[in-house]
Amino acid sequence: MARKNHILSRLLNGDTAFVDFIENELQAIVENYRAEHGRPAYTLSFGYTSHPLPPIAARAMSEYALGLADRDTYTSYEPVSGNPALKQAIADDYQRRSGVAIDPQAIFITDGAQLASVAVQELFAQNSLVALPDPSYPAFLEGTQLLGRHYIWLPNDADDPFIPIPPKERVDIIYLCFPSNPTGKVATRAQLQRFVDYAREHQAVIIHDAAYRSFIHTTDAPASIYEIEGAETCAIEIGSLSKDAGFAGLRVGWCILPHGLTISGTVAGELHAMWRRQHQVKIWGPSNIAQHGALAVFTEEGKAQCRKAVDYYLGNAKMLRRALEHLGIPCHGAIDNPYVWAQSPTPDQNDRAFLAQLLDYTGLVGAPGTIFGPGGQGYLRLSGFGGREEIEAISTHIHTLTSLT
Ligand code: PLP
Repeated sequence: MARKNHILSRLLNGDTAFVDFIENELQAIVENYRAEHGRPAYTLSFGYTSHPLPPIAARAMSEYALGLADRDTYTSYEPVSGNPALKQAIADDYQRRSGVAIDPQAIFITDGAQLASVAVQELFAQNSLVALPDPSYPAFLEGTQLLGRHYIWLPNDADDPFIPIPPKERVDIIYLCFPSNPTGKVATRAQLQRFVDYAREHQAVIIHDAAYRSFIHTTDAPASIYEIEGAETCAIEIGSLSKDAGFAGLRVGWCILPHGLTISGTVAGELHAMWRRQHQVKIWGPSNIAQHGALAVFTEEGKAQCRKAVDYYLGNAKMLRRALEHLGIPCHGAIDNPYVWAQSPTPDQNDRAFLAQLLDYTGLVGAPGTIFGPGGQGYLRLSGFGGREEIEAISTHIHTLTSLT
């Protein structure tokens, strides 16, 4: 007799999942606004990308796809851990951007960052205690709940808002994400070093989501956790081409699991081999067409084309932040990060009330901060991933208004 998975069932009937919230509750708010005001709201609450693919990647994929219809150029499965040339290109990119030597053999090509950032937890014991930044990307929490594991929210630095610090208690797995979604914050080397030191002292493992690493341009903030001394012994890093290369629908990312990463009871290379097995059984990786498109992204021409997309999104986010600040709304983000993290200027106003007030006054919709964690109370996340015309239109409109309060 088949019986249901109670963890999953409880999840379904418990808190609303992030995506369900976006698709249902937020959609209803937007529809109501349209019905009431006779015009659409500006929904900048999503991370959906709008900039077209790098043309070099689109060409590479069309040519590769046509080649699949020809007996002489047809190819079958890619290797389990991904296309070797793509892994080498990613390692070269880390060397160029971060000055770190990554062994291409440590890299696994994944179908985006989402699955890998959650699935990699399965390497660790069922009773592992997980620590999450507050607030953080919802998949970290939802993936932890899906695995039926306990978690704590990391405390934040009293001197630097929304920068997490290592916990007082002992935890086993620590999620970090810099540049951060949703807070727009970027960590310094010293701030990341605190976590690496903690992880080494407590035999904990850091899962660092670097999906936004290519948005770092103005500071010398680390674009990879491996820029931090000792990280190769305690950190897994996840990357993605969804945002800078527009691969959100194509699904290509990576997971770096160094051979030197060990925890108590393992020998060097063991965790890597375990992840390889997991990859082989469950994941295998994205389509060969997408992997060949990704290869084109890492050419000089491809990188220049991605840079245009990154500049476009950063430009959007800056425009948005200036407009919100014009209304007297304090903001983080938009510097080395495509998100704006806006704080209600009204003391003690909760995120839903802030959302409603901003929408009513300007027509702009953000994502309420508490869907990313309790620390998001009183905040909204606005995304720079929308189209420039829309963001220009809402910004121009906002500049005609006076303070929100
Ligand atoms: N990680 C973070 C921090 C994200 O913001 C996102 C998407 O918004 C993802 C992972 C998902 O990335 P992917 O499309 O590569 O699965």
